[in-house]
Amino acid sequence: MKAEDLDRLQAEACDAVRAGATKDELRRIEREHLGKGGVVADILASIPSLEPAERRAVGQGANRLKQAILAAIEARENELDAEALAAERKAEGFDASLPPPALERGALHPVTRVTRELEDIFTSMGYRVLDGPEVELDYYNFEALNIPKDHPAREMYDTFWCGEGENLLLRTHTSPVQIRALQKLEPPFRAIVPGRCFRNETVDASHEHTFHQMEGLVVGEDITVGHLIGTMKTFLRELFQRDLEVRLRPGYFPFVEPGFELDARCPFCEQGCSVCKRTTWIELCPCGMVHPAVLRHGGVDPERYTGFAFGLGLSRLVMLRYRIDDIRQIMAGDVRFLEQFA
Ligand SMILES: [Zn+2]
Repeated sequence: MKAEDLDRLQAEACDAVRAGATKDELRRIEREHLGKGGVVADILASIPSLEPAERRAVGQGANRLKQAILAAIEARENELDAEALAAERKAEGFDASLPPPALERGALHPVTRVTRELEDIFTSMGYRVLDGPEVELDYYNFEALNIPKDHPAREMYDTFWCGEGENLLLRTHTSPVQIRALQKLEPPFRAIVPGRCFRNETVDASHEHTFHQMEGLVVGEDITVGHLIGTMKTFLRELFQRDLEVRLRPGYFPFVEPGFELDARCPFCEQGCSVCKRTTWIELCPCGMVHPAVLRHGGVDPERYTGFAFGLGLSRLVMLRYRIDDIRQIMAGDVRFLEQFA
């Protein structure tokens, strides 16, 4: 066996491998060359009959031949795999030359947007942003807000009760955080509490079982209704970028005294439109001076401190802001609706 013979064998074997159309064919070529009784085995078997001087060169040559064939087989196998994958993709309609689909960009939810905007406005007025539990104790949601067990005002809140004993509930408003804030913070302080609230209501275009509120609470010495009105006017100016007249109507809520309904001039019209139901006024929020009993429940001395509180309908502000006419869209999670805010 001469070096030229080995070279020729290698060239022939590699040509055969490159022409192999299936993996079965490659296995057959491998067997014929490297298997028992194969070409390489024959060469190795012939070594003992060679001149000692030739043995080493022939042994090394046989080994090179084996490595070359194995490498050629591996390369051809990879080619066959790639061809099979390409054929499969073509059958699926995949075309690597097409441009990729456009990236879908997410967007902030309209409630998140308005919440952040309001947080900016109120923090610029020295308010801190507080949070509270959504599953609340009866004590914080009602009792400490001057709505004891037998109080008829409980009828106003269609409450989702949790479990036995009617002590745990899904908060019906953000007001329980008033008590938590009073217990925790040393007056004077200003705080807002944006968050989700829940009511067991029949759902329609203007009622939803899950909605958003933003509570506001200011406590200090000599806080008056004047501060409340000034605060609401400032907030409206920031939100709608213009001065809006406000008015107070008497309203009854057990945790404020006196209590009011605060209306603002419709920011969308001069003479009446569908948003303000042709009245030029929109109902903005219930508010009032914090009831002395509430201050006491929060451990604050009503002889020394007074305060005002308001409960902005955050969902309603979102609807006003983006002219959404059905509150159900806000929490429905319909991507077609949410995409409009991208
Ligand atoms: Zn209007």
